[in-house]
Amino acid sequence: MPRFVIQKHAASRLHYDFRLEVAGVLKSWAVPKGPSMNPRDKRLAVQVEDHSISWGDFEGVLPEGTYGAGTVLVWDSGTYRNRSERDGKPLPIERALENGRAAFWLEGKKLRGGFVLMRMYRGPERNWLLIKLDDEEADPEYDPVRSRPESVLTGRTLEEITG
Ligand code: MN
Repeated sequence: MPRFVIQKHAASRLHYDFRLEVAGVLKSWAVPKGPSMNPRDKRLAVQVEDHSISWGDFEGVLPEGTYGAGTVLVWDSGTYRNRSERDGKPLPIERALENGRAAFWLEGKKLRGGFVLMRMYRGPERNWLLIKLDDEEADPEYDPVRSRPESVLTGRTLEEITG
C-alpha cells in the first residue's frame, strides 16, 4: 500500500505539507489551514515540488538560511488507497492527478476516510482544494488540527522539537 504523510511545518508561515506516495516520490501540497474532517470545508492546498520518499520521515529543525527554515513535525502518517475513477472505471492516481481530480481513502493515526484533491478552475494551476468526502468517517466535531497537535512519531509538539 502506498504511504501518505502530513508534516506540520512552522516555516515563515505555519502550514501542513500533505504528501502522497506516487510513482516513487512524494507528491506534495502545502495546506495553510491543515486538513478538515468536515465535508463542508474546502481547504486550499498549494502544490509544491515533489519530495523524496525518505523526506516523509523527517522531523526536526531546518536551520536559518536553508529552504523551508523552521520546525517540522510528522503530524500524521499511514497508508492510502486510490479511489479515483473516470466514467465509473478505476483510474491510476498518476492519471487522476494529471486530470486534476484524485480521490483516495486515508488510513492514518489522526485522519481516516475518503478525501479528494481537486485542482481549482480559476487562479494558478498549483492551487487545489483538499476536501473530506461525506462518508462514515466524516465528523465536523472532530478537529484534529486543534485537538491533536502532537507528532505521531514522537508525541512531541512543535515547541518541544524547536526547544
Ligand atoms: Mn513546507
